[in-house]
Amino acid sequence: MLYDIIIIGAGPAGLTAAIYTSRAELKTLVIENVAVTSQAAMADDIENYPGFPEGLKGFELIDRFKKQAEKFGTEFKAEDVKSIKESSSGGKKIYNIGLEEESVLSLSVIIAAGASPRKLGVPGEEKFRGKGISYCAVCDAAFFRDKDIIVVGGGDTAVEEALFLAKFGRQVTLLHRRERLRATKILQERAFADKKIKFMWNSVLTAVSGDEKVKSVKIENVKTGEKKEIPCDGIFGAVGYIPNTDFLKGTLKLDKDGYVITDNNMKTSKEGIFACGDARKKLLRQIVTACGDGATAAFSARMYVEELKGIAYK
Ligand code: NAP
Repeated sequence: MLYDIIIIGAGPAGLTAAIYTSRAELKTLVIENVAVTSQAAMADDIENYPGFPEGLKGFELIDRFKKQAEKFGTEFKAEDVKSIKESSSGGKKIYNIGLEEESVLSLSVIIAAGASPRKLGVPGEEKFRGKGISYCAVCDAAFFRDKDIIVVGGGDTAVEEALFLAKFGRQVTLLHRRERLRATKILQERAFADKKIKFMWNSVLTAVSGDEKVKSVKIENVKTGEKKEIPCDGIFGAVGYIPNTDFLKGTLKLDKDGYVITDNNMKTSKEGIFACGDARKKLLRQIVTACGDGATAAFSARMYVEELKGIAYK
């Protein structure tokens, strides 16, 4: 089986690309990593995706994208991609996508592998992961009903997580290393107005302690150097993301943080491989920009495949 296009990742970028390539009647396979859920799918409420003024749940939006791709013939496979290798067949370059126990072949590849939450990098983090430490409020908030929660970070994710957790917890403390937030203004205003959310500025988490579960955290004020230990039941890390691109090291040109470098047409350093969405080096990571990237990557991949097949419309 030789696919025209294999898309790695089933978030907004990958699924939009799939809608476009399938509508172009290119044989398309989307490979989704079951262990890595799209960030968009985990969003409690999406209110900045055009066309849904009342907002909608992330999983619902992703489900709609997926149904739309399936409607046009996209195939899906749940696997972890290990490698991408180049080979040739009938004088044509093909890509061999290595999975756990098999490999799948394609004329071109679209990387839409997204990004995963960055770790806090403090002692105790690994030990208490799942025992008080989480990176997903929508997944785990219910475990922290009437508890004291700390959210670390100052961006959109941290503020959204704090707002969501405030519906469950007794108190939510947003711990940020600066004295102002990076998050979008409308989210900031909501957080400032929420009586359950308090702010600890110029502060970083330095360690997590407990027994079976998290019991306390050590905090340091980066301005005054003051150190203290405060009791808490839950910690939510929201200090940004790292791209899911380990499997591409040595195959594609990545920047120093691991994001795939592309041109404006989503072409990577390797002919026939395109990249889109959060795994790509770019300015703004939003669902709407991921969709835009996905459509462009699909168009570029289509031109590449049709050229290879000698059917390009020139
Ligand atoms: P982000 O914008 O990169 O913010 C990460 C936050 O964590 C920053 O405030 C950063 O501090 C802090 N931080 C980073 N490393 C840290 C460390 N080691 N220790 C302590 N603090 C640390 O990440 P994000 O909030 O996850 O957002 C990622 C992207 O998704 C953004 O483009 C965002 O707009 C988008 N997003 C959008 C929405 C929405 O539109 N509703 C929702 C969620 C995410 P500094 O500020 O000092 O750098």
